[in-house]
Amino acid sequence: MNGIELMHWVDDEEAFRKCVVLLDEVNTMDRPALVSLTFDDGLRCQFGRTLDILNQHGFPATFFLAANRDSTHEPWYGHINEWWKIDWSEEDISALKKVLQAGHEIGSHSVTHNLDKMWRQPDDEARESKRLIECRLDTKVSSFAYPYYRSHDYLFAAVKSAGYEQARGGPRGSYYVVSGDSSLDQFNVDCRQISGYENVSGWVRPGFWHVLTFHGIGGDRDGWAFITDEQFSAQMAQLAKFRASGAVEVVTFKEGAARLRKAN
Ligand SMILES: [Zn+2]
Repeated sequence: MNGIELMHWVDDEEAFRKCVVLLDEVNTMDRPALVSLTFDDGLRCQFGRTLDILNQHGFPATFFLAANRDSTHEPWYGHINEWWKIDWSEEDISALKKVLQAGHEIGSHSVTHNLDKMWRQPDDEARESKRLIECRLDTKVSSFAYPYYRSHDYLFAAVKSAGYEQARGGPRGSYYVVSGDSSLDQFNVDCRQISGYENVSGWVRPGFWHVLTFHGIGGDRDGWAFITDEQFSAQMAQLAKFRASGAVEVVTFKEGAARLRKAN
C-alpha cells in the first residue's frame, strides 16, 4: 500500500499521518539491515587475527589510517611501546594493498591525529592525508573519519573541499533508513563506538544502516577503548549468523554511504 491508496482509507489528517509513519516502518521490516564495520587509527592489532576473522566471514570493512609515519599511535601521550600502528614501511604498504584486494576499504584519518595541531592546519590534515595514502596504495580514497569524533568542528569544511565523498563522525549510535533518510549528513555520518559487551542483535535493525567503530582489539596495550579478541570474534560470529539468515548485509562505509546517497 502506498500513501495515495492510504488516503482513500483514512480521512482524518492526524490518523493519516500516524498511518504513514507506521507504513514506513512496515515497509522497512522486510529489508536486510545494512552494517558497516569501521576500524580507526591503523593499529597493528587490527591487521592480524582481526583481519583474518573478517576475511573468514567475508565481511568487507573500512580501515581509517593516519598518514603519519609514527610507529605508535599518539606517542606524545606516552604510547611509546604500545598502541603499535602502521608506519607505512614498504612491508606495510604491500600488506595494505592485499587488504584492498580482499575487498576492504582504506580511508583517511588525518595526517597527525594530534589535537594540538589539527585545528591549525585543517587543509593539510584533509588534503595531504588523502594524497599520501592514494600515492602509497595506488587507490582512490573517498572516505574520511574525524579523529576523536569532535574534530568535525574544524575539519569539516576542509574534508568537503578536499574531494572526499563521505566522512564519519559519531558516536551517537544513529540508524539511517536505507531507502532514504533526510537526517543523513554525508560528511558527518554517525556511528556506534563498540564496547566489549555489545548486543549484536541491536546492530541489526531491518531496513536501517548502522555504522560501527572499533579501535583496539586485544588488550589495553593494543589501542584505545579495546575489546578482547574473544569479544570481537564472538560479535563477528553472531553477525555472520544474521547475515546467513538474510537479515543483514555487511558493506564498507563507502558502499553504505553510496547506497543512501542513491536512495536520497
Ligand atoms: Zn582516531
